[in-house]
Amino acid sequence: MLAIKAGTLIDGKGGDPIQNAVLLVEDDKIIAAGPDGVVKIPDGALIVDASDRTVMPGLIDCHVHVMRNSASLEQRLFTPRAVSYYRAAENLAKMLRAGFTTARDAGEADAGIRQALETGLIPGPRLVVSGTIGLTGGLLEKRYPSGAEIVDENAWRICDGVEEVRKTVRRVLREGVDFVKVFTTGGVGAPQGHPFTAQWTLAELRVIVEEAQRYGAGVMAHAEGVEGIKLALRAGVTSVEHGYVLDDEAIELFLTTGAFLVPTQHISTHETSGLSAASLRKKQQLRKAQEGSLRRAHDAGVRIALGTDSFRADMHGRNAIELSLMMENGGLSAMEAIVAGTSVAARCCLLGEEVGALEAGKRADFLLVEGDPLADIAILQDAARITVYQKGVLVQ
Ligand SMILES: [Zn+2]
Repeated sequence: MLAIKAGTLIDGKGGDPIQNAVLLVEDDKIIAAGPDGVVKIPDGALIVDASDRTVMPGLIDCHVHVMRNSASLEQRLFTPRAVSYYRAAENLAKMLRAGFTTARDAGEADAGIRQALETGLIPGPRLVVSGTIGLTGGLLEKRYPSGAEIVDENAWRICDGVEEVRKTVRRVLREGVDFVKVFTTGGVGAPQGHPFTAQWTLAELRVIVEEAQRYGAGVMAHAEGVEGIKLALRAGVTSVEHGYVLDDEAIELFLTTGAFLVPTQHISTHETSGLSAASLRKKQQLRKAQEGSLRRAHDAGVRIALGTDSFRADMHGRNAIELSLMMENGGLSAMEAIVAGTSVAARCCLLGEEVGALEAGKRADFLLVEGDPLADIAILQDAARITVYQKGVLVQ
């Protein structure tokens, strides 16, 4: 039994911070968390004195690409898949050291990486993996004005029409993924399509959701413009990724469906490198249209979950920057940002019963933080100030 004496305890659910708290851990589970005295330290418990630290749940990033290290398509094409796996291992280790004990990969990382992590073969966060499907002419299809096309079934599968979509989703689910990833709008980077244009029919999307649900999996929808966002929400997806442009109807749909918004502010506001002139134009149009959307969603009570869209080598492990950006761009308080990165993110990953909060029964993934992240959220960007415990064990 492990007893952590916490100067301050943040539960991850938005409860008032508790001064002089105790967190009890047995094996990989939390047994109790609360004020010292209310939670009694049993005889023989190994005591960790963190009375000068803030203790909080491990952070969760709902949108990463651990297999990617570059925005450059050419670089990806010239990287053997085995190298990408080793790089992924490195990225995952960085993320864990930065205090992220759970992450959801938005494509390419497979059930094998998840298993390597679960069995302790490589260090890293608990990983939720997804399989990606796309449609003809959609964002994923790597077809160029020359007529040349890149096909990579490891990374995406193209299908159209209800029955073909159903079969493809089943093939993706057969590989043991936790989520199906779809794109319901175009994007900035691809040569074709636009973030403002919706993709798929409602019937196709409903089949994707139906098959995923049957399997116990979720659906995450890349959607940037409002039409595609509403389409995804009407189909019943678990979460909308990016979700940049929102109108009242979209916000209402979030509230009635209970879907999560993963606003990926890091990629939205900070990244323009490597974009073509056409892509930059799309990005500018998007930025103009998205102004104030996240703030309105937050004010209305939409469930917001932390996600960075980290896909470059230098982004992995810097995930906590998203906490600051959600505060800046969405008006979240520090506590709300932490909740978005813990208990809400856990639910968005369909792991709400297992991780994301310091309470009895949850997995003992927690952080000892030097300083008060509620007073200065940027503290969480400094790995040197964070001690990580995963499944009750100190991460070295
Ligand atoms: Zn992404």
